[in-house]
Amino acid sequence: MQRTEDMNNNDLTEKYTLPNYRRYDFWPERGQGAYVWDRDGRKYLDFAGGVAVNPLGHCHPEVVQAIKDQAEKLIHVSNWFQIPQQGELAQMLVEEILQIPGKCFFGNSGAEANEGLIKLARRYGVLKPQADGSPRYEILTFTGSFHGRTFATMTATAQEKIHGGFGPLVPGFKYLPFNDIEALKQAINENTVAILLEPVQGESGVHPASPEFLREAVKLRDQHDLLLLLDEIQCGLGRTGETAGWRAIIPGDEIQPDGVSFAKSIGSGYALGAFWVRKRSINDGASTPLCDILNAGSHGSTYGGSPLACATALATLRVILREGLPAHAKKMGQYIADHAGQWNLPAVKAVRAFGFMIGFELNHVLLESREDVKASGLPPSMWIAQRCIDAGMLVVPAGPHVVRWLAPMNTSVEDADEGLKIFRSVLTSL
Ligand code: PLP
Repeated sequence: MQRTEDMNNNDLTEKYTLPNYRRYDFWPERGQGAYVWDRDGRKYLDFAGGVAVNPLGHCHPEVVQAIKDQAEKLIHVSNWFQIPQQGELAQMLVEEILQIPGKCFFGNSGAEANEGLIKLARRYGVLKPQADGSPRYEILTFTGSFHGRTFATMTATAQEKIHGGFGPLVPGFKYLPFNDIEALKQAINENTVAILLEPVQGESGVHPASPEFLREAVKLRDQHDLLLLLDEIQCGLGRTGETAGWRAIIPGDEIQPDGVSFAKSIGSGYALGAFWVRKRSINDGASTPLCDILNAGSHGSTYGGSPLACATALATLRVILREGLPAHAKKMGQYIADHAGQWNLPAVKAVRAFGFMIGFELNHVLLESREDVKASGLPPSMWIAQRCIDAGMLVVPAGPHVVRWLAPMNTSVEDADEGLKIFRSVLTSL
């Protein structure tokens, strides 16, 4: 056997990990705030933010301290026993983040959070069946969505490229064009039980639900006794400028979803996912509210909501709330969009900013006609992301034609200016 010291890291990753990621040849070694340093000591501005996972940047001192303190006391205990940090974290999500009565479940990832919402919908369809008594189970999802890579969430994701090669898929999902009110109205039948959507789609390139579409979804939910489920895994917890992502589209209390999923920002990079269920009557003649229908034994997760995961999330959310980071993200998103909007560079067609969820729509026709882009074999977004790495900045592709900035929510004006400078120089050099 070849000793590990004899092989360099590139060989090890290639030899021993599955080839499912198309990784850049970039080796970050440590991070602080909005910056990371690679293994050769070179500094980069990190506006990829772990794909919306690092709301406070890297290694925020309060998060690091919370991890250290909790790790010294108790890392994990089974959900057979009491975990007080779960109650504290759930209270924060209910009362300060969403501000709508309800209850939470904790798992480990975004996909797992959405799996929970899908199970909630299936259970609801059993409790509130069709006229002939058979369960309702169809969930409506939308083109461009992304809900995860497990079987049900991959199926919920209305993108052929995500399903490719894994059939047969999970039954019970119907795909509709996003923001198409007529299609939504037409799609509902006696089998429909839920509508699942991202208030601001991330992976498709930062596309918001329109206010009219959200309002219609609520109306149809009420008319047809459906559940309105919002995937806030990428757009939630303040990133879009409001503690609840959908309030960046319709402020205030007008929209009351039935379930919301969280992950990414919640744990500052520590694996944690969660979903919230509204406390409301389900009008089935019994007194069980919606937030109690997943009763004992119906759902679970071994690691989910460990003391360490919850302590990390509590520290993260406390900083987000105390420092007013949603409002800061909103201001900075506008600042960046205003500056980038004045560039008038041929490589960028549009800038879409919802707080610190920012999509730069590339002029892909122009880019695809370049010999260097063609020779790279990369789609324009990945090619630009590589050029950014070369220039000392991390960004994330969203599909082939959009580059996203998912910077820390506490990014300063100076760091935003640095990002604008580097990104503009990359685009002007083309
Ligand atoms: N939902 C949305 C909106 C996402 O952006 C993602 C991940 O990118 C997921 C779900 C899946 O989350 P995870 O990768 O943690 O399973």
